[in-house]
Amino acid sequence: MESRGTKREAGKIEVAEPRNKLPRPAPSLPIDPALYSGPFPFYRRPSELGCFSLDAQRQYHGDARALRYYSPPPTNGQSPNFDLRDGYPDRYQPRDEEVQERLDHLLRWLLEHRGQLEGGPGWLAGAIVTWRGHLTKLLTTPYERQEGWQLAASRFRGTLYLSEVETPAARVQRLTRPPLLRELMYMGYKFEQYMCADKPGVSPDPSGEVNTNVAFCSVLRSRLGNHPLLFSGEVDCTDPQAPSTQPPTCYVELKTSKEMHSPGQWKSFYRHKLLKWWAQSFLPGVPNVVAGFRNPEGFVCSLKTFPTMEMFEYVRNDRDGWNPSVCMNFCAAFLSFAQNTVVQDDPRLVYLFSWEPGGPVTVSEHRDAPHAFLPPWYVEAVTQDLPSPPKTPSPKD
Ligand code: GDP
Ligand code: MG
Repeated sequence: MESRGTKREAGKIEVAEPRNKLPRPAPSLPIDPALYSGPFPFYRRPSELGCFSLDAQRQYHGDARALRYYSPPPTNGQSPNFDLRDGYPDRYQPRDEEVQERLDHLLRWLLEHRGQLEGGPGWLAGAIVTWRGHLTKLLTTPYERQEGWQLAASRFRGTLYLSEVETPAARVQRLTRPPLLRELMYMGYKFEQYMCADKPGVSPDPSGEVNTNVAFCSVLRSRLGNHPLLFSGEVDCTDPQAPSTQPPTCYVELKTSKEMHSPGQWKSFYRHKLLKWWAQSFLPGVPNVVAGFRNPEGFVCSLKTFPTMEMFEYVRNDRDGWNPSVCMNFCAAFLSFAQNTVVQDDPRLVYLFSWEPGGPVTVSEHRDAPHAFLPPWYVEAVTQDLPSPPKTPSPKD
């Protein structure tokens, strides 16, 4: 914490602390799964409020131009034979990860739609605004043993905004990412290219470039316990043949994973990977995750659909498995912790919530750069909406 409570106003009489009063410990939030194993909390069925697209130059468009269409290979008894390494690195345009976009694209959408939000007047003022990916990290925290996180939080006109900050360790990992890991990341995007078409009813064209600047993002409304949520997440594709064409139930998440051969490999997959897949797709209400299993040569030889609502069954009877109630109860507890910590309404004031495996979530207070993340164009536009009452003229005016 910065020097909060250590400054004394000039002339103010110092009052001695009562003898029995211990200094208040810095607030923190424990993450032990056993603390969060109560009943599954209320989670409102996510509804789509809108969407936006980012193009090959990472430019924002307030439409669905980047949405792709699920187009799996024909199921004629043959297995697929997708070469995930094809085009690497010559047909790869990776996004510049040095650019920290924070909540900017989502805030642009919100600025353009804040007048038409459902939920009644004042709904946004009571809501939490963030990316789906940040909520995914919260959901998996009680089970995470490798990677910590930092989330910056500011309150502005009632709304609580949460924006991830790259940890120093994550930055080092990103800058020293081994070549094989870079290629594996490419392979995940290449799989999407084999499974998706730009228009419904046509076959995928894997001959082009893989450009990870391109994204289609759905903006969703939900509520966890008493926390109204507005969040956005990148969606891989929509299934034109889905039983319901209504988003988000027509959306499909695509994943790749190593081919498995032993029951032990499957068990580990259910315990670790399926938790991440579940958390990511459950939040926005994406009903199916389609996995492509790749062999050591980088070819996808089998596909399997995992319905999001059935993923927990694979670990329900596993003592070392994960539990959706723990994930959601922890997330709700974190959101309450954040709501109770970030009391002042000030877009320049930032509370940084930090977590490292093995410890609790801790918090520190900051002002302005480098942690303030609500951009001036957003703050100024929203401020002009609801100007504060004119200042009472003082006698000397
Ligand atoms: P995910 O669930 O982790 O994939 O993240 P979201 O769906 O919430 O994505 C939110 C926004 O962040 C989208 O515009 C994504 O393109 C972008 N994004 C997702 N992952 C990364 C990442 O690892 N690095 C950067 N710089 N942006 C990312
Ligand atoms: Mg995906």
